[in-house]
Amino acid sequence: MTLKQGLMFINGEWVESTSQKTRTIINPYNQASIAEVAEGIESDAEAAIKAARTAFDSGEWRTTPANERGRILFNIAAFIERDKEELARLETLDTGKTLIESREDMDTIAGVFQYYAGLADKEGGEIIASPIANASSKVIREPVGVCAQITPWNYPLLQAAWKIAPALAAGNTIVIKPSEITPLTTIKVTELIEEAGPPKGVYNLVLGPGASVGQTLADHPQVDLISFTGGIDTGKKLMKSAANHVKNIALELGGKNPNIVFADADLETAVDQALNAVFLHAGQVCSAGARLLVEDSIHDWFVEQLTERVKRIKLGDGFHEETQSGPLISSEHRTKVERYVEIGKQEGAKLVIGGQRPDHPDLQDGFFYEPTIFTECRTDMQIVQEEVFGPVLTVERFHSEKEAIDLANDSIYGLAGAVWTTDLKKAERVASGCRMGTVWINDFHPYFAQAPWGGYKQSGIGRELGKTGLEEYTEVKHIYQNTQPEPIHWFK
Ligand code: NAD
Repeated sequence: MTLKQGLMFINGEWVESTSQKTRTIINPYNQASIAEVAEGIESDAEAAIKAARTAFDSGEWRTTPANERGRILFNIAAFIERDKEELARLETLDTGKTLIESREDMDTIAGVFQYYAGLADKEGGEIIASPIANASSKVIREPVGVCAQITPWNYPLLQAAWKIAPALAAGNTIVIKPSEITPLTTIKVTELIEEAGPPKGVYNLVLGPGASVGQTLADHPQVDLISFTGGIDTGKKLMKSAANHVKNIALELGGKNPNIVFADADLETAVDQALNAVFLHAGQVCSAGARLLVEDSIHDWFVEQLTERVKRIKLGDGFHEETQSGPLISSEHRTKVERYVEIGKQEGAKLVIGGQRPDHPDLQDGFFYEPTIFTECRTDMQIVQEEVFGPVLTVERFHSEKEAIDLANDSIYGLAGAVWTTDLKKAERVASGCRMGTVWINDFHPYFAQAPWGGYKQSGIGRELGKTGLEEYTEVKHIYQNTQPEPIHWFK
């Protein structure tokens, strides 16, 4: 592994934490130490903000022609493709997810940089038809300024890419802080960004805990925008921090996403994808289809099919080809999942399969948990309402299209959902009735650089990806010019 260990990237230099402290990163598959990274503190975050502020205020990056900024992003994408295997291996070591999935993540990430590289010079602003004679009016977009970007542990580099690429394309400067437990691929990509060569101070990486380093970024008056992906409780805290200086804030928070299956669906495909929807990456996916809503007439058959398939899910080392799902990220996280399973049982949900740690001797050192299904669930249960973020599926029945929509919307979240039916008019009606940022019809999980991603309700504020994802990193300015100024003699 050729990773810069023990260092952060501030003002174009690789530096140690001012505390000189480091943190050991472990592989959740076997708890082996895999890297020793810098453990930043508040003063490191402050130094990074100062660098980003100076770089932004110098104007060098924001006045770099947009196609030239795009060229640098194209280079980053090319370097990611070149080093894809190393990046994918690091991601699997750090998160425990399967190597196949990590490789797919890296393809998506390169695609995100390519997309924003291409988009960088496509936004030319617009001329407004002014209601005032002899005046010209134009609307342009300018970068927001210094952006603090805070990312989670489940898709470490993917979530970082969704933020870094549009922010740089729009001419902003960045301080990014990855999750303290999964920083490796963000460190590696920082090396690639350095190689691509934006000016000094434009891109800065700080490492360390959220409560100290992350909170410093959020509270700092010199930061113009906080872009955060993570849990709802942290998101609420950051909104309060943003309020102190009326900062821009973008939040990508959790979800409890309904997967609605009608009796007239292609059921074989719906069963197959319902598994993928919830058990991919051990359920540690913000868009996981953790709530299955099944039409009453097929409910028992559907659950039987799912249960048979769940028995065959192979847990193991993400590096082994036959492994279909890895461990949970940490011991604390597994304890949280276990607590939810106990709550589900106490609430009267029926445990159909799973609900425990696997007993296979090869899995004892990792934070594994068996794929779990609860039936007889109701929306008033905590296990249905709250984000478990683990391999736990709750199943509810519905009897009509209206009931399916009402159940799907009975949530504080509104990130994503899916509908399965061969009646495409019904599919469109249900998609339109669902209050979510993304609705898939006869599919689950696809997201890509070209389409916006984000949540309704308490799943967040703003959108990443797509053109909207670039606009998040811009301010809108109206420039008005009186082309024939004359005195108006209002005051005599
Ligand atoms: P988390 O909120 O615990 O941590 C996320 C990041 O915030 C980490 O970098 C952490 O260090 C930092 N942080 C924590 N406290 C902070 C504070 N007080 N100030 C500033 N930063 C702070 O979330 P997590 O457990 O890492 O991630 C899981 C959550 O992320 C889930 O809820 C999941 O749904 C959500 N998520 C959402 C999306 C999306 O696109 N909507 C994508 C991925 C993950």
